[in-house]
Amino acid sequence: MRHLYWFRNDLRLNDNPGLLAHAQAERLLLIYIWPLNQPWCNVTGMGAQRERFLCESLQALRKGLSKLGQNLLVMHGAPESIIPQLVQEHAIDRVGASRAPGYYERRTLELLAARLPVPLDIHENGTLFREQELPFPPGALPDHYTRFREQLQELPLRQPLPRPDTLPHPPAAPFHPIPDPPTRPHTALPVRGGSLAGNRRLRQFVFEEQAIEHYAQRRNCLDGLDGSSTLSPWLANGCLSALEVATAVRRYERGHGDNESTRWLLHELLWREFFHWRAYRDDINLFRAGGGQRRLHHCSFEPRSFARWCAGDTEYALVNAVMRQLVATGWASNRGRQIAASCLVDELKLDWRYGAAFFEKHLLDYDVASNYGNWQYIAGSGADPRGGRHFDLAKQAREHDPEGTFTLKWGGERPSQPEYVNDAADWPIVDP
Ligand SMILES: Cc1cc2nc3c(=O)[nH]c(=O)nc-3n(C[C@H](O)[C@H](O)[C@H](O)COP(=O)(O)OP(=O)(O)OC[C@H]3O[C@@H](n4cnc5c(N)ncnc54)[C@H](O)[C@@H]3O)c2cc1C
Repeated sequence: MRHLYWFRNDLRLNDNPGLLAHAQAERLLLIYIWPLNQPWCNVTGMGAQRERFLCESLQALRKGLSKLGQNLLVMHGAPESIIPQLVQEHAIDRVGASRAPGYYERRTLELLAARLPVPLDIHENGTLFREQELPFPPGALPDHYTRFREQLQELPLRQPLPRPDTLPHPPAAPFHPIPDPPTRPHTALPVRGGSLAGNRRLRQFVFEEQAIEHYAQRRNCLDGLDGSSTLSPWLANGCLSALEVATAVRRYERGHGDNESTRWLLHELLWREFFHWRAYRDDINLFRAGGGQRRLHHCSFEPRSFARWCAGDTEYALVNAVMRQLVATGWASNRGRQIAASCLVDELKLDWRYGAAFFEKHLLDYDVASNYGNWQYIAGSGADPRGGRHFDLAKQAREHDPEGTFTLKWGGERPSQPEYVNDAADWPIVDP
């Protein structure tokens, strides 16, 4: 039997049920297809740091595969066209891919299944719990996080699966080199893609530096690597599985006892879980301005305000610093994201989806469910029982950057701009 396995957001060998399920084939073609731009959004392309992290993750995956006598075919285009063609060229009998929570990603799987002359196996490997382990059917997911967490936090965790010992050889195919990343990691966030780097960061955060002990106190730090785990880029690309992270935290708790910080980190993984299952349930509503609500949602767009927000050139120095950090490094802390998102929605009065699309372009950890779910939460069209979060930006600056160190580091103070421009010559100059 000749199988094809399509890696998506599961760029790892460990704890990968999809890959293991195809390890018994006689020949196995492993592929990755570069993500396409969103169909509706005018913020296009992938930021240089996000692209860099993805290239590194693919190179690392290929290196790991080569030790098992395998390779990775990296392609560009529409999966529903490419894969049937490969099936024909290589006489493939069976195709496998992982499930994904995003509407467009699922739609692609449906189109693919309809065009394939062979069976398509869809594997669950993006969430902590499998669908059958949930205490409710996905359609009956609690509307709010607290109720969700209460029902899941005591569930036992499975053991992560081992990596395959061997893999069948690939059929002959043109395995072109994976392009070198377009940039280097920013010195302020020196994180590299790939499972090896992800596991190293997990070990460092939990066991070596035991920074997990202070997570509850430091998670709101605005700079990377100082406070929270910074594991999200590896989780989002699937270089680490949520189960690997959760079992490492539980192992730490067995050795050192649990405390507020360890429990809080596990709760954050449940936020990820909540947004993933919510995205499955909400379908296309994840991209609607009002979410699943049947009321009119504030929805506007003003290009100049949006351009200034993207460039970190607004009237709000802390927001500018966060946006400049995001574009330069591909990362912003959770607190920084909340502050920047609230500014776009509540101060600039823009449609949240433009902000979400800009985050999608730049975040190393872009994850459709977490990104759009969190944006909806802040905009008041999602899972927030309070109907949205309006952050007092001056208070946020006093509390989270009292000395202004973060704002200074990222050049958040900007010269003030005229309120209106009457002439093209007055158009603000924004240096990204
Ligand atoms: C507007 C906005 C957009 C966001 N977009 C994304 C995104 O595209 N991808 C993404 O992974 N996270 C997103 N988040 C959630 C959160 O900001 C990041 O997961 C977190 O900052 C990553 O840093 P960390 O790994 O140090 O997290 P930690 O605080 O160390 O938490 C550990 C893990 O828990 C998960 N997690 C933590 N907070 C959240 C949360 N609020 N929602 C979902 N999962 C969470 C992440 O997987 C994270 O790696 C967004 C938040 C906001 C407010």
